[in-house]
Amino acid sequence: MKSAHKMSMLIYLFIYLMLVQNMRTITAGPNPVELIGIKSSKKSNWTYTTSASITQPPINMDENTRAHLKNFRNEAAKLCQSYPGTFLSSLPTQKKKIALTFDDGPDSHTTTKVLDILEYYNIPATFFVIGQNVDKHREVIYQAIKNGHEIANHSWSHIRPTSVSTSELISEVKKTQAKLQEMGITTKVFRPPYGLITLQQMEALKALGYKAVIWSIDSMDWYTSNPQEIVQCVLSNVHPGAIILMHCAGGSDNRRGTIEALPLIISALKREGYEFVTIKQLLDF
Ligand SMILES: [Zn+2]
Repeated sequence: MKSAHKMSMLIYLFIYLMLVQNMRTITAGPNPVELIGIKSSKKSNWTYTTSASITQPPINMDENTRAHLKNFRNEAAKLCQSYPGTFLSSLPTQKKKIALTFDDGPDSHTTTKVLDILEYYNIPATFFVIGQNVDKHREVIYQAIKNGHEIANHSWSHIRPTSVSTSELISEVKKTQAKLQEMGITTKVFRPPYGLITLQQMEALKALGYKAVIWSIDSMDWYTSNPQEIVQCVLSNVHPGAIILMHCAGGSDNRRGTIEALPLIISALKREGYEFVTIKQLLDF
């Protein structure tokens, strides 16, 4: 009896210690960078936990935009948690690697300027293109590929996924996919316009082998044309594995702010020891 009692005491102690250990892990508090991933034993790959938090732009903005962005961050964080590894706001690395991403191209004006700047600094980036613009600017896409950039899917007509049905979204994605395939480009990386999708849409994308990739740093170049503010939005929030949102088309002034800010951003990040990568280079799929 005595030894049985001793044994059960030991078991209780063991369970208690396990619980305390788990509590410590749970209550340690989220460090946005540490949340990115834990190393997997197989290959040199990462096991995804959840993406880094989406950072808050440090500039002045009107109340509507502030509220909109707050809601966006909350909803996106939920998607990151529900779909680790398939809905991502940052790259699974703790190394000083970052991805510059440019949305809404190609066009004949801004995208080419962005390509020139990237070529000057000899760094790669990822372009999320709108399918219906591809035919008009095929040479711009060919140039981007020749320069080592990645081309990914940003829907056919820049619909807001949360305002359309799942079948409509998937048809937009597939149409763009087919258009890119005509040019020899295969991608399973999709960025939802405006950043959010429904759970049903995520399931459908997942079934097609897609990852939805948003951003952890918004340069706010869609909101402000002030290059200093754009630079500030990126540099004050930079972290390992960051995905930076910028635009290479649209805007009332051909993204003058983006074009002026980009060299400043790249040179500052280079000085800080960051390596520029494409989305695919780090997602490894
Ligand atoms: Zn867009």
